[in-house]
Amino acid sequence: MRKKVSYREKMILKHEKNVENILKAGNYVKNKKLAEDYFDKREKTEICPDTIYLEASDIDGSVYRKMIPCGREICAVCGKRNSIAHRIRVARCREKVDSMSSLGYLVFTIPAELREIFKNTINLGDFSVFIKNLLKENGYKRGIMRWHWSGEYIGYAPHLNVLVDSGYLDKSEFEKKIGGIKKMVLEYFNKNYCDDKFYEKINLKYNYTSQKGKKIHKLKYIMRGTMINIGDDMYSVYFKLHNYRNTRYWGKWIKKTDKSRNKGILEELNEKLRWVYKGKFSAVYQNTLETFCYLGEGIFKYNSTSFLQKKLDKL
Ligand SMILES: [Zn+2]
Repeated sequence: MRKKVSYREKMILKHEKNVENILKAGNYVKNKKLAEDYFDKREKTEICPDTIYLEASDIDGSVYRKMIPCGREICAVCGKRNSIAHRIRVARCREKVDSMSSLGYLVFTIPAELREIFKNTINLGDFSVFIKNLLKENGYKRGIMRWHWSGEYIGYAPHLNVLVDSGYLDKSEFEKKIGGIKKMVLEYFNKNYCDDKFYEKINLKYNYTSQKGKKIHKLKYIMRGTMINIGDDMYSVYFKLHNYRNTRYWGKWIKKTDKSRNKGILEELNEKLRWVYKGKFSAVYQNTLETFCYLGEGIFKYNSTSFLQKKLDKL
């Protein structure tokens, strides 16, 4: 009789197979040099083996391809910093961060004693909602939040990163605002998870920046995947948090001009395009590189003066 393989085992096997494939096939980059020249230098050329693609055409006959990597934080490609999945996440949020003239950054760390209890989407979600409401009550009308699952050290150490409109706070403002928030978070943990007021201290970091480059750096930092850093416990956390929507926003965001947007994202938002699912991207990888132009963020546009053509013309 065949042994029944659980969904979890299947996923682990699939993931390990992916890692193996990436190493073996050089990540289906047959012509590595072509790929390196082709993609934006800052963009990782590694392509997730689970990438699928969609196609759309414009009324003027332009054809677009959109690759969608698996985006899982445990993926050997997507889980890395600067992966295509990471860059798409950043680009989608970029407009929001650009509209914040001064960016305040708060980090709420789950106390070490509660980490096990917080391997649970209900508790994580409840805490996020609590923080969102608390910040709203404190005058932060809008914000972006995202969990990091691990920090500097290996192991599960969830902390909630929050970006809000905020700047310099003098000592008394800091005490009043951040001190007040800290007190409420402490009360939250004691009320919900510890009747005997075990927790006396809470880890809450605050800093801010108004420099454009630093704001983007902060956004990239919070949008990166952190699950791989967990180490041995990675799969157990992954399956417990499966399908958890990590990035959340609140408040009103004003649309910026198209100029400030990435080219790829602009086409993604183009309402005239009707995207149709086509299959595995690996099947058209070489062809895409040879005949399409890369706009960024996983979006390609077919152009007769394509990258390859330009290359051939130069010869
Ligand atoms: Zn992936």
